[in-house]
Amino acid sequence: MYTTLLTDATLFDALVAIDQDLAATAQAGGCRRCPGRLHHGDYPRKPRGGPATLPMAYEKRTSFCCARCRKRVTPASVRFLGRRVYLGAIVVLACVLRQGPTPWRVARVRALLGVSADTLARWHRWWRDAFVHTAFWRAARSRFARPVDAADLPRGLLACFGGEAFAQTVATLRFLSPLTTRSAGTLSEARP
Ligand SMILES: [Zn+2]
Repeated sequence: MYTTLLTDATLFDALVAIDQDLAATAQAGGCRRCPGRLHHGDYPRKPRGGPATLPMAYEKRTSFCCARCRKRVTPASVRFLGRRVYLGAIVVLACVLRQGPTPWRVARVRALLGVSADTLARWHRWWRDAFVHTAFWRAARSRFARPVDAADLPRGLLACFGGEAFAQTVATLRFLSPLTTRSAGTLSEARP
């Protein structure tokens, strides 16, 4: 069920709509340093993963720049997980497919997504060695009724959210989105 999501245009459209809301809220909040207004100063992106035709919105990571003092405000995002080339949904789902009772072989993930074994290993390490030590996770994990085993991330995290795979994926990306703002500064290992 997670497999079909990898190319589900409905999912990638839904994530665009969520990011538009997150961006609108951030822009309405204005500059954090002065009374200036925020203008778009988006970053160009060439993302990998997702359906064959991605909405145009995926070619930009939304960011704002204060018209007066130039300070940047980068809103949270459910489309991009840090500066990784692969989309956030792919980073999460590719790892999930390698977990559980019938984990996919690396070669299968590679054939479907083009993600190399090294990249996949680095993503897994990020969950296990970096993510679990973020202030964000230390504060957020207590919100779950059942404890999430670090060795079971990210699959165990998705399982905390109700509904089908689609709803779980959206909820997980929403949950992780505070990590994607520059001010959170927690995605240091955020290469492809
Ligand atoms: Zn300003």
